[in-house]
Amino acid sequence: MTITPLEKIKNEVLDCKKCPLHKERIENRFYPVIGEGNHQAKIMFIGEAPGLQEAKTGRPFCGAAGKILNELLESTGIERKDVYICNLLKDRPPRNRDPLPEEIKVCVPYLERQIEIIKPKVLCPLGRYAMNFLMEKFGLGSQVDGISKIHGKVFKTEKLSQNINIIPFYHPAVATYNPNMKGILEKDFKILERFK
Ligand code: URA
Repeated sequence: MTITPLEKIKNEVLDCKKCPLHKERIENRFYPVIGEGNHQAKIMFIGEAPGLQEAKTGRPFCGAAGKILNELLESTGIERKDVYICNLLKDRPPRNRDPLPEEIKVCVPYLERQIEIIKPKVLCPLGRYAMNFLMEKFGLGSQVDGISKIHGKVFKTEKLSQNINIIPFYHPAVATYNPNMKGILEKDFKILERFK
């Protein structure tokens, strides 16, 4: 039986022991969160790492931050099934702590392969960790600034022979503890209407 390149990534992540996060996953009977959505998506969202709900189900953005993301997509008329959603890290850091540089380093090759397979036109990092990684990877390191300065802006890149627009957004979780941020996110998400 042949498996697709995305299934191959899933199998590799299930066996991955490159960082200690896999131990947490096994001890807690969690799942890795590989990604979900349209494998030919024009728009790809990249979050930080799975939260508790995501690790329990293996699905990205299915908890409180996911509810906000769903509402943001709905406000732009984009259906969740038409985009691809994944994360920088495939396993949950304990107590939702920030990803460590060494965890990012060993985990991002999976994400890089996902981007190569899906070939999106628009990459939307959600939060500063995904933003910093993607801007550096696509040769936009000199334009990186705080997310409060560059959220909602379109950065074009042709590096790696992929014609890609990178649009950083605040992480939707910010709207769960600061309701004022929801309006800013909604305004920023409007730009995606151009790319659907
Ligand atoms: N936060 C993330 O960064 N990713 C998820 O999948 C859920 C919450």
